[in-house]
Amino acid sequence: MRRALHRRDGHERGPLDSDAMAGTAHGENDPAEILRRSVENGRVHSSYLFTGTGPAPSVTAQTFARALVCAAPVGGRPCESCNACLRSREDEEAEAILLDGKGERGPTHRHLGDHPDLLFVERGAEGTRITIGQIRDIQNALRLGANEGGRRIAIVNGAEWLNPQAQNALLRLTEEPPENTSVVLVASRASAIIATIRSRSVRIRFPSDETCALRGPDAEEDVVEIVSMLDGLRGRSVGEVLDFAENYRGARAVAAESVTELIDVSAEWLRQDVKARVERGDTPTVRTLDAYRSVQQLRRDLIQRNANPQMVAERLLLGLRDATA
Ligand SMILES: [Zn+2]
Repeated sequence: MRRALHRRDGHERGPLDSDAMAGTAHGENDPAEILRRSVENGRVHSSYLFTGTGPAPSVTAQTFARALVCAAPVGGRPCESCNACLRSREDEEAEAILLDGKGERGPTHRHLGDHPDLLFVERGAEGTRITIGQIRDIQNALRLGANEGGRRIAIVNGAEWLNPQAQNALLRLTEEPPENTSVVLVASRASAIIATIRSRSVRIRFPSDETCALRGPDAEEDVVEIVSMLDGLRGRSVGEVLDFAENYRGARAVAAESVTELIDVSAEWLRQDVKARVERGDTPTVRTLDAYRSVQQLRRDLIQRNANPQMVAERLLLGLRDATA
């Protein structure tokens, strides 16, 4: 059970109103808006995870990185006229630089435009994975410090293609980020990124990421398994619920990963339940909203307070059972 439907809000204490739960990407939850505020307030984190399909997450990551080194950003975006903006602008006429994971037939990473502080890495033109060598090169480049005296930013594009060793190297980078550096991971789905990196990153979710299949042919096998268990919670005895939570016993790292998935699927399951109610003209019950809040709290307990995964699973399932009673 590794694949997860991760839907952490872009910021830790995201609003939990029914609008946000219904997944409408506007206002405070809009990715561009979150990033604009971040640029304007100068509150920049050392690690971001952008998730979603299509070009938007990657394009936004590049605009964000460019805005962070721009001398005078306008509305949180690059001004396009300062020296940094002119350097970081990609020349569309220029021939694309083909990366090579081993650095043999091409560089392991490149820059945005020719800006020395903006690094960009993705899997090599013929590579199947982003390699540890590529991540080490990025790591070394970030440690050098900024040429222009500001921030250094590395974008890891297509981060779902990081191999396990590269993910571990990246984890160490997010654990001890060099001063004034940021890493922006861009991935089609968060479940491809190990939980320890996810928990250290500010999650920016793009609308294309909103549709998470819980049922039907597109749903993952282990997701279907969890959903059928959640669907059957109503009327179960406490003993039966605890029996199911037994599945989450075991080595902490593995169990925590599985419980993270349980939490993600549960949050999505509740969200879709609320959405269906709203569409029918019902208002979500206080119990359901409480359950949604407690799911988010349990996620924090698991990730930040190292709570016991099996106990988190027990509390989660018992709470959901009561919410659906
Ligand atoms: Zn500028």
